[in-house]
Amino acid sequence: MLSTTGIIVFILLLAVAGYFCVMGLAKLYNRVRIGRPIDRSDRLMERIMGFFGRQDCQRKIAREPAAALMHLPILYGVILFILGAVHLALEKLIGLVIFGSPYFYLITEIGGILLLFGMLYSAWRRYVQKIPRLDTGTWEEERFIVFLISDLCLIVVAFFLSYGFKLIASPEYFDQWRLSMAPASLLVASLFNGVEPAMAGKLELVFWWVHILAAFTLIGIPRYSPLLHPAAAPLNIIFRYMDSKIEPMEKIDFEDEERETFGVNKLSDFTWKDLLDCYACAECGRCQDNCPAYLTDKPLSPKKLLAHIKEHLEEIVPGEPRIKMVDGHMVFDQQEQKSEDAEDAKKLLGEVIDEHAIWACTTCRACREQCPNMNEHANKIMQLRRAYVLDESDFPAEAQLTFTNMERNSNPWGIGWADRANWAADLDVKILGEAEDAESVEYLFYVGCAGSFDDRIKKVSTALVKVLKEAGVSFGIL
Ligand code: SF4
Ligand code: SF4
Repeated sequence: MLSTTGIIVFILLLAVAGYFCVMGLAKLYNRVRIGRPIDRSDRLMERIMGFFGRQDCQRKIAREPAAALMHLPILYGVILFILGAVHLALEKLIGLVIFGSPYFYLITEIGGILLLFGMLYSAWRRYVQKIPRLDTGTWEEERFIVFLISDLCLIVVAFFLSYGFKLIASPEYFDQWRLSMAPASLLVASLFNGVEPAMAGKLELVFWWVHILAAFTLIGIPRYSPLLHPAAAPLNIIFRYMDSKIEPMEKIDFEDEERETFGVNKLSDFTWKDLLDCYACAECGRCQDNCPAYLTDKPLSPKKLLAHIKEHLEEIVPGEPRIKMVDGHMVFDQQEQKSEDAEDAKKLLGEVIDEHAIWACTTCRACREQCPNMNEHANKIMQLRRAYVLDESDFPAEAQLTFTNMERNSNPWGIGWADRANWAADLDVKILGEAEDAESVEYLFYVGCAGSFDDRIKKVSTALVKVLKEAGVSFGIL
């Protein structure tokens, strides 16, 4: 067990790490909260259980076996190792042993080995194989990734060294079968078995403190790191859109005379969930690698789109609350925050996000399909487009003809609006609004513009009508 001084130092260090962690999470909260409200508080239990139960995220990662070989050991290694490391810290501090089974030590060390393997393999993929989609493109983020990989490796290695030397210093510890199944610690003990027990005892303590310092550094890192994916991704999945696979675009109320803008042109036009998406992003590049615009050398990368929004958010909202005393109570002061929010007026269009990127999107949503964190890119792009079209009246010349056609004839082809049902002239289809027995029709076949005017798609409409008739379905068109 630790001395009283050791316990006091431990508690002080834990308090400092906890403070930095809370400050980091407060920054995340303050930045995300500048977004517009959107209600995602319904079915909370279902959301949380869905998060723990859903395998989509891991399945998406496993589409590339090499990525799964890196990510799964990290995920499950962290869970197993943290449980064991906390347990062993309690034992060191207050002599509390909850699980005395050798299997517990075996599981802890397997967790540590998995984590170490995952981290080293991740470094290999990033810096030796140099997989292009993993490149963050900024030195600031890259140095944090190097730091995180090194720190996690140090936590695990120092842990193994500490318990390895403990075996040499206190053979009776081994005899109590407490570490008899801990493979890594046993390996360390056999490698250093010439070390005197007294020296081994000191080394055990040194490496235990190294392990603790590295762990506390990791706890406090959110205060400084721009990479808050581990904190934001679970929240992002919990607060996901749940009613269908694709989140619908927000409807515009054109009757609302108070409304001055219709699209998104500054950060606070996004919802808080849109902004959380940017922090949940692990910059894995799966969206980018499956984006038809990116793959055909258009200036759009869905990954970079989120990264640019996040960078802009960090630039204008420093986010860290000041703590001050009011009437003897400690309160977070948000005043500074409000004045900084005013700078949010800086436009996203053109200044933060390349105009050509916005128009390059095909809205195929392959990015959403591939993203393990359920980020929604296409809706953000559509909302930026809305700002171009509805707020700025600024759009590519190619779109001009389409808009004029829609305005004059209610279809992008510009064919006379009265000819909408011509394709069905010989098919004996009821036209609702014209047919006398329209009330008795059970289903509406909503044909849309392409099905009514495009020569190829008209064949699809015709075929569907034949199928419906053959099946005896009561239906009509508009
Ligand atoms: S929806 Fe847009 S950004 Fe996403 S993959 Fe398709 S083209 Fe790329
Ligand atoms: S948005 Fe999703 S798929 Fe794209 S880089 Fe981020 S985490 Fe990966």
